Amino acid sequence: MSIASIRLYTPVPVLAEGTELPLPEAQAHYLANVLRAAPGETCRVFNGLQGEWRAEITQISKKRVTLTARVQTRPQHPAPDAWACFALLKRAKTDLVVEKATELGASVIQPVLTARTGADHVNLERLRAIAIEAAEQCERLDVPEIRPPVPVMELLRGWPARPLFVADERRTAPLLGAAAGPCALMVGPEGGFTDAELEAIAARPQVMRVSLGSRILRAETATIAGLALLIAAQP
Ligand code: SAM
Repeated sequence: MSIASIRLYTPVPVLAEGTELPLPEAQAHYLANVLRAAPGETCRVFNGLQGEWRAEITQISKKRVTLTARVQTRPQHPAPDAWACFALLKRAKTDLVVEKATELGASVIQPVLTARTGADHVNLERLRAIAIEAAEQCERLDVPEIRPPVPVMELLRGWPARPLFVADERRTAPLLGAAAGPCALMVGPEGGFTDAELEAIAARPQVMRVSLGSRILRAETATIAGLALLIAAQP
């Protein structure tokens, strides 16, 4: 199988013509032993800063692969400045939210802890690997930042000057619309925010309650649908 369509994220700080990229073990194994790539073959790489580049295999063995960047194929394009804040869910649903929020263009993925959150810790490295794989597959030029879970009110105490749309399924609220600039979405847990939480959240500056429609969505669906409403129109 040709590797020409393969995209690999590389955390290298500068990606330019001639940059040598010794691949980490997993990526080296994938190219060398799974795809059985050969010297001279090329794939695409991106680092979230200097766009996407076509890179050539200049050294390959069963355990080590080095690529060399040859030509830029796409200039860097900023992702929407949109934060996806969601009450931490059980592992598989959190994984789904991270994958879909990456595909939808979120710049920051922020799990929050609420009174009814179904989990209280995550493996950030695993979530980061999911986000990298999703970014590679959906042609993104960067990878969202995955932040450690934080209690919702602690997050709001230091909230920046950024519009925050809190999804509230119980009150009449305006339907969430597309945001033109920096923004954030917050979605509650499977059992919903408590009344006290919603009152405290809605009382904060920058916060607006929004509806995601007349149907009650699962928390993971609400996060994915909400992000699509909020940023799908952004370039
Ligand atoms: N409170 C209900 C319950 O106890 O099952 C539903 C909670 S819902 C499953 C989880 C979260 O998704 C809610 O906290 C809310 O943030 C969001 N959500 C679901 N449907 C929504 C809608 N139609 N409008 C706004 N937010 C919604």
